[in-house]
Amino acid sequence: MTIKEKIPVGILGVTGSVGRQFLRLLADHPWFHLAAAGASHRSAGKTIATAVADEDFPEHIANMRIVPCVPGEAMPCRIVFSGLDSSVAGDIESEFARAGYIVISNSRNHRYDPDVPLMIPEVNPDHLELITSQNFGAGCIITNPNCSTTGLVLTLKPLYDVFGVEAVHVTTLQAVSGAGYPGLPAIDMIDNVLPYIAGEEDKLEREPLKILGDLKNGAINPATITLSAHCTRVPVSDGHLECVSVKLTRTTTEKEIIDCWQNFRAKPQELDLPTAPQQPLHYFADERLPQPRRQRHLEAGMAVSIGRLRPCALLDFKFVVLSHNTIRGAAGGAVLNAELLAAQKPSLF
Ligand code: NAP
Repeated sequence: MTIKEKIPVGILGVTGSVGRQFLRLLADHPWFHLAAAGASHRSAGKTIATAVADEDFPEHIANMRIVPCVPGEAMPCRIVFSGLDSSVAGDIESEFARAGYIVISNSRNHRYDPDVPLMIPEVNPDHLELITSQNFGAGCIITNPNCSTTGLVLTLKPLYDVFGVEAVHVTTLQAVSGAGYPGLPAIDMIDNVLPYIAGEEDKLEREPLKILGDLKNGAINPATITLSAHCTRVPVSDGHLECVSVKLTRTTTEKEIIDCWQNFRAKPQELDLPTAPQQPLHYFADERLPQPRRQRHLEAGMAVSIGRLRPCALLDFKFVVLSHNTIRGAAGGAVLNAELLAAQKPSLF
């Protein structure tokens, strides 16, 4: 698929952990042209080169001046990608949608609104239809899930469709970039593991049910899976590792499960979307894998790595999942959502 003219897009929260990843992904995107970058009044007026000083960007990005996150002339775009702090994201995103912008958000604020799709393009592309019931006129809000939910649900999706999933227990080992920029004090993280991440377990136990739910008569019927999550923060820069146990409805073998993961392809691959990985799920037979340092950049950070599938004495099977939290789990997932929207609903552009 090709787009005749690049779509102007903006970033809200460009100085954050997710915002910086948006900059990298949108600096030279084949369908989108980065027209504006917004952050708080603390950053407004600075150039990207000054505000995001720890990284070199191409000149046209480096010289871009940060604007306040207010709809209007300073944000001349059709889509805004939001990496806003959740303390402000709810109101600012609604304001942009009301002003006619398409808002693609990483924040938790609108994820459970009944008419807002919570999307992973390989898992529930049909949920995009929910935007037709929103009351924002030409604008709308589309969200992507929490960074740990994305890796988990991508891995569960083919199992759910083929064997049925009844229960999941997951323990996460989450990277420090998941806590934002500049994030946690180094002194708290070096030589340490934090056994609690505020609000994270609730998201991981709730979001998969909406994403794997059925869209019927304009509403989502949540999936019925019993989920239990334990979330920890570990001294890794990027890449969330998750240790997962699953109970399946139908009896199966390890070989069938691995085949199911390796052969999984979905809408983004069918449409050949620019940010879509060729193969969303990669299984590694080497039991020392996956590792954050070695696999997080697989397929430009958009593929999920899986390993160590084996029987579980409590549920049926257990395995390890790795996904890049700020790419697949945040900015990359959001860009893929926007590409899906552009491909599926060209009349909006
Ligand atoms: P972050 O590093 O703390 O960045 C927050 C951004 O919000 C900054 O650009 C900040 O700008 C901006 N901001 C704060 N107050 C503002 C205001 N009043 N008006 C306009 N902009 C304001 O956070 P993050 O880790 O990138 O996360 C961003 C969002 O994505 C959060 O909702 C988070 O839960 C979600 N998320 C994060 C990850 C991850 O792995 N990090 C993954 C999935 C989802 P200033 O620099 O000017 O203050």
